[in-house]
Amino acid sequence: MTTQAVIAIHGGAGTILRSALSIEAESAYHAALEGILEAGQRILADGGSALDAVTEAVRLLEDCPLFNAGHGAVFTAAGTHELDASVMDGATLEAGAVCCVTRVKNPVLAARRVLDKSEHVLFTGEGAEAFAAAQGLEFVDPAYFHTEARHRQWLNARGVQGTMLDHDAASMDARDEGPNEPIDPDKKFGTVGAVARDAHGHVAAATSTGGITNKQPGRVGDAPLIGAGCYANDATCAVSTTGTGEMFMRMLAAYDVSARMEYRGATLEQAAAEVVMERLPRIEGRGGLIAVDAKGNVTLPFNTEGMYRGFARVGDTPVTAIYR
Ligand code: ASP
Repeated sequence: MTTQAVIAIHGGAGTILRSALSIEAESAYHAALEGILEAGQRILADGGSALDAVTEAVRLLEDCPLFNAGHGAVFTAAGTHELDASVMDGATLEAGAVCCVTRVKNPVLAARRVLDKSEHVLFTGEGAEAFAAAQGLEFVDPAYFHTEARHRQWLNARGVQGTMLDHDAASMDARDEGPNEPIDPDKKFGTVGAVARDAHGHVAAATSTGGITNKQPGRVGDAPLIGAGCYANDATCAVSTTGTGEMFMRMLAAYDVSARMEYRGATLEQAAAEVVMERLPRIEGRGGLIAVDAKGNVTLPFNTEGMYRGFARVGDTPVTAIYR
């Protein structure tokens, strides 16, 4: 147990093959994760709230083309991008989320405005964009979300099967090229998320995604759903998930971690491990989550080959990892 402020982030889980990631690509991921953790650490070190730290960390993850959220999001079956994001404050149980937005530069900022400025929790599509516009948020041409690497990944996925987790699509892409071909580092990705515990003992969570490669337009996963892809409660923990969204929705995965702590007295680590390693696999749910509790404990379990992840306590060097 520790009382230090701490932030943890993820950049998605899936089939992240060691053979498909060059040394350069690996270091690019580590550097990106580390820089974003440091930004979160600075907010927490200055006495900032967990809510501000997770919002800023996810905004930076959205701006980074390495990850499947914001700039660099995956393509839908129609060749477009539909983005989902959510944020929750463990101190007040207030939450905000948007889904199916196509032009808001940073969906997590729209989710945060919903939390701060609206009596509602979730806005979808055009209504979400009208709300974001009224809040003065930045809009971009949909082409902003397009990256060449994602486009190739999408073309590849269409030739292979219907939809796939972003990282699985990326690994498939890498295999197709053969192990000796240079690997584009931009081909490995997933949902992004952050959880934090601040110096005041409050926790918060945020999640943002482009969803699953080649998803049907209008399909929404777990990321913007409070209790499925995002949850925070000072009495228990803060959770952000990544993986096969439909299974995380059916298991209410994020809330289930909290409920196990609240109703059964499970520790953060036990509760998270039960959900990821026992409950989700029962319905073939693949992925992982990051979680912190109000005491500052951190856990980052996943049941796939890899998950881009890291955590940083204020005053300590950030720790980042990709594989199991
Ligand atoms: N959970 C996300 C979704 O279903 C996808 C992912 O995390 O890779 O939209």
